[in-house]
This record gives sequence, structure tokens and C-alpha cells, in this order.
Amino acid sequence: MTYDLHTHSELSDGRDRVRDMVRAAEAAGLTAVAITDHLEVNQFGGVDAEWVGSLLREVEAARSQSRVMVLAGVESSILDWKGRISVTPDLYSRLDLILAGIGWGTKGIGFYQPEDKTKAIRRLVDVYCLLATNPWVDVIAHPFNIGLFFKDLNLSEIPLTAVAEVASAFREGGVAFELNNSFWWWFPHRSPTEVREDYQRIVEIFADNGVSFVAGSDAHSFHGVGQLSWVRRLVQRVGLREQDFLSLSALRTRRFHRLR
Ligand SMILES: [Zn+2]
Repeated sequence: MTYDLHTHSELSDGRDRVRDMVRAAEAAGLTAVAITDHLEVNQFGGVDAEWVGSLLREVEAARSQSRVMVLAGVESSILDWKGRISVTPDLYSRLDLILAGIGWGTKGIGFYQPEDKTKAIRRLVDVYCLLATNPWVDVIAHPFNIGLFFKDLNLSEIPLTAVAEVASAFREGGVAFELNNSFWWWFPHRSPTEVREDYQRIVEIFADNGVSFVAGSDAHSFHGVGQLSWVRRLVQRVGLREQDFLSLSALRTRRFHRLR
């Protein structure tokens, strides 16, 4: 893993400038870094994307000053359990990478939650299967980050069949599975080690289904760029190999076909 495909700059809720995030990537010995600031929906249901122009300019400037490959991306929240996101085809074509993940703004998961575990599992499967068919998504950010939303549902309680259903949807839709170094943060009632042990089973099923992985730190300051130690342990336990990860050339090829 020589890249970090999930970081935030001051253009959303990160602390540092794009330039410093890229310098930190070089210092960490990475070959590539993606700046993926949050693409949010405003109170009127519109998308605030004016800052994307600044992102593209700052990424361009950073590229000219560093050997690190820099991708301009966004992290889009999933709007509802039907897997809708706030990315338009135009936005997709202007950027290099689109991450999409469940958050507090995801209707039916972050709020208006299902009343029991069975329904919660069904909803989770539905949201990911529908999202995987959205052509304007490259990577699903921190899949199964449910700890804060479904508090009494443990990752280990999700049936293998449900996980396998999502895995084959990812495979068919050609979306990548992000191994997010901050994944454990979403489970405040479990230790990071327990979360890794619970998650391992899920990651193995995706690997068995031939889904590609990417790695991201979710750094919100330059200090965290390239910080992937929790992910590395997970990768080791699962036994993922270099070829299980999405290469940047494969990403480019796939995006090219989607935009045709
Ligand atoms: Zn993030």
C-alpha cells in the first residue's frame, strides 16, 4: 500500500492546506494521495460544490511541486437507503475519484433508523447493493461503518449470506472496497482490536468474491497522511496481496469506460 486515497483538507473539515497534505504524502513515502473533501447537501437539498474549483486549482499547483501523484476527489454522503448520492455526471468527469459512504445524513440509516436488527441488516444490504450500481461511485468508503447508527447490532451478527450478497454487488458494479484506517472509530463501544477481528470476516468474503480494495487514512490533518497501521494489520490477517488492491491505472481505465 503505497497510496492513501482518503484525506481531508481545509476545503471541508480538515485542518491543513492541500499543499501541506501533499508534502506530508511525500514525506511518508507515498506514491499517490487523494484529497477527498466532503461533498455535502445543503438545507435546501442542493449540493455545495463551488469549492471543487478551488480543489482542482490547489491540486494542480501541488502536482507541479511534488513527485507524488495527486488525485482530486470528493467523499459524498449517501443520501438515503436507496443509495442516492450527491455526485452529478459533470462533477464525476471533473474529478479523479469519488468515494461514497454512510453517514449521519443517510436517511434510513443515520436517521429514521429501522426498528429491529433484521430490518437494519436488510437495509444495509439494500443500500450497498443499490449504491454499487451507481456509475458515479468509484469507491465505497468504510463499508459497514454501522457502530454509531445501529448500536446493538455487532458486525459479527451480520449473516455471511448478507455479506456475500453485498460482495457480489460490489464485484458486479465494479466498485472498490475501502480499508479505512479510522474504521474502528465508528464503533465506540468496541476496542479497535475487537473491531478488526469482527471486520476480518467481512473483508475475507469481499476478497473471496474478487472485489478490489483501496486503502485510506481519512486524515484530517497532514499528520495523518499515510497513517495506515490499523489497516496493515487487517491486511496481514486477511492475507491480502498487492494484486487485491486497485491500481491507479485500473481506476483510470474504469473511469474512462464509465464516462464514454
Ligand atoms: Zn472521510
